[in-house]
Amino acid sequence: MDKEKITSIKEILKNSSSIVIVAHTNPDGDAIGASLALKRFLANSGFNAQVVVPNKFHNFLDWMPGSDEILIGTNEFKKNETLIYDADLIFCLDFNSISRVDQLSNSLACSKAKKVLIDHHLSPEPFVDFLFSDIKSSSTSELVYDFIVEIGGANSIDEEIANCLFVGIMTDTGSFSFSCNNAKTFLVVAELIKAGLNVERVHKLIFDNNNESRLRLLGFCLSANMVVLHEFSTAYIHLSKEELEMHHFEAGDTENVVNYALSIKGINLAVLLMEKEEYVKISMRSKGDFSVNDLARNHFNGGGHRNAAGGMYDLPLANAIEHLESILPEYHDQIKNSLK
Ligand code: 5GP
Ligand code: MN
Repeated sequence: MDKEKITSIKEILKNSSSIVIVAHTNPDGDAIGASLALKRFLANSGFNAQVVVPNKFHNFLDWMPGSDEILIGTNEFKKNETLIYDADLIFCLDFNSISRVDQLSNSLACSKAKKVLIDHHLSPEPFVDFLFSDIKSSSTSELVYDFIVEIGGANSIDEEIANCLFVGIMTDTGSFSFSCNNAKTFLVVAELIKAGLNVERVHKLIFDNNNESRLRLLGFCLSANMVVLHEFSTAYIHLSKEELEMHHFEAGDTENVVNYALSIKGINLAVLLMEKEEYVKISMRSKGDFSVNDLARNHFNGGGHRNAAGGMYDLPLANAIEHLESILPEYHDQIKNSLK
């Protein structure tokens, strides 16, 4: 990380009375883990910061220390907008485009604050004053670790910070199954263990914390609503609003569902299409060289990483499915050969 940028941020920190940390909409383990870790680090260094996320996060993250203090954009929207607008310093975590904070985009764009972006998504947009972007990093949480070390805070990484950073690294690498084939990620985890992290405990808290309806929804997706197109090495899962309601859907319940479709032998592209109030939310995963980032950007108004991306499509669900099926022939060879 650039020393000059770090020195400037240290200066700005000292002169900031209102510090805000913002993460992306539908915040995942990395967004929440990185935000809570940074907040706690700043608190340990004598700076008070508020974490604001655009909407509710899933209750499997509720146990995380400090999660009850996270401000949810959709609750008390005006107050949160003002907080962002009037801040002196804003850390933007785990997103590459201002549009990824949905209804908070406007206040973030217009805020007078100095903005720091820490992120690992492709092609970050230039909406900040200080950019720390590394698309090779496992997660934003790993980058927050680097940031803390660079700013001279390695010694203040306590058990709480270690737990939060580990949640981000573990969830963004699918429990160390992708985006982590480098020694450094594991060296960071080793340092987190030294700081008090209990890997087994945190793993259980994240992955053995399902409620019954979430598992039944997963079962339903796989048995009733998964379409496998071997011709295109593709599998997709669709979920209507009614089906989600039937399964008492809560935010985050479908996280990881798309990976089950990708786990089928011979399947290199997996897609989840989920009907929301005003659009269909698309989640994509791929194996090998096939870029779902390109697919999401070109056809579903979205983006992400090469092997994990998302986007949206205007209603209705049937049209989104039709659209997906109609573009597959164009990508036939790329999907088929992605592992070669
Ligand atoms: P997920 O499928 O888990 O929602 O998202 C996978 C990845 O794609 C994440 O890294 C996320 O940041 C990115 N992503 C998801 N939805 C969108 C979207 O609508 N637009 C963009 N640009 N990226 C997205
Ligand atoms: Mn991330």
